[in-house]
Amino acid sequence: MVLGALGSRISDALRNMSNAMLVDDKVLNDMLKEIGNALIAADVSVPLVLNLRKAITQQVNMEEMAQGINKRKLIQTAVFQELINLVDPGHKPYVPVKGQTNVIMLVGLQGNGKTTTAGKLGYYYQRKGWKVGLVCADTFRAGAFDQLKQNATKARIPYYGSYTETSPVVVAADGVDKFREEGFEIIIVDTSGRHKQEEALFEEMAEVAEAVEPDTTIFVMDAAIGQAAQDQAEAFRERVDVGSVIITKMDGSAKGGGALSAVAATHSPIVFIGMGEHIDQLEPFDASSFVSRLLG
Ligand code: GDP
Repeated sequence: MVLGALGSRISDALRNMSNAMLVDDKVLNDMLKEIGNALIAADVSVPLVLNLRKAITQQVNMEEMAQGINKRKLIQTAVFQELINLVDPGHKPYVPVKGQTNVIMLVGLQGNGKTTTAGKLGYYYQRKGWKVGLVCADTFRAGAFDQLKQNATKARIPYYGSYTETSPVVVAADGVDKFREEGFEIIIVDTSGRHKQEEALFEEMAEVAEAVEPDTTIFVMDAAIGQAAQDQAEAFRERVDVGSVIITKMDGSAKGGGALSAVAATHSPIVFIGMGEHIDQLEPFDASSFVSRLLG
């Protein structure tokens, strides 16, 4: 499983605490320190780790006043709950509505997996019976349209793009108009990325958003980015109305904690995680099952 080392270190820390003869403050603190170190090694940011430790201690101290409570169980529950809180900002992402057009715009830096994710997301909804169309508004990266077309063709998803039109705004608007008129329920717009955060990218994103009026914008972020994730997520959020996040390449990264803490810091819910290069390797994200799986 992804972040396997993190999961087993946390599980070991919990087990050590459970095996202790007496769970006193020292045992609790040692366990929290080890969990904190494991999270930091997975690139979760230090302030978040400190908050998490504080929240666990507070929960435990408060509950302790109640009589007859099993302290080990109490601590385990608090750790579990706070890990869930770390990846769940508490507000719900946009949920597409059946029978109407839902425009979903994907944004992110080049190479983070936007185009692959556009195909996966289309495939996910199509399999659930939605009428899906893909629009390639990435006119910046040579080959982006071919890549989207290839994935769409394989999955038999209708697509729209242009080899001659160089304005992403025009392609996006035309594609969305076409699918909207034809009664498509989910229209996924893949936008251009850049190698780094730069003004041209943000301006283009804003123009495309203005032209297609997305119902929701999803920020696509590579799990391998580590500590830089927070800065990147904040920069995107400042410039475009990010409704939720998809973290890609969770299959390959031990550093996914960076992306997870970016999500916590920007209060953006994670909607899916990418677990491989294939079109069916996209999983809906659920905070509590993610943490359960993480801890084995
Ligand atoms: P874009 O520039 O943001 O559109 O990025 P692409 O969609 O072209 O993806 C860049 C690379 O990442 C490609 O080689 C993809 O196959 C790969 N990729 C995307 N998502 C995942 C994922 O969830 N897991 C893995 N292992 N690779 C992925």
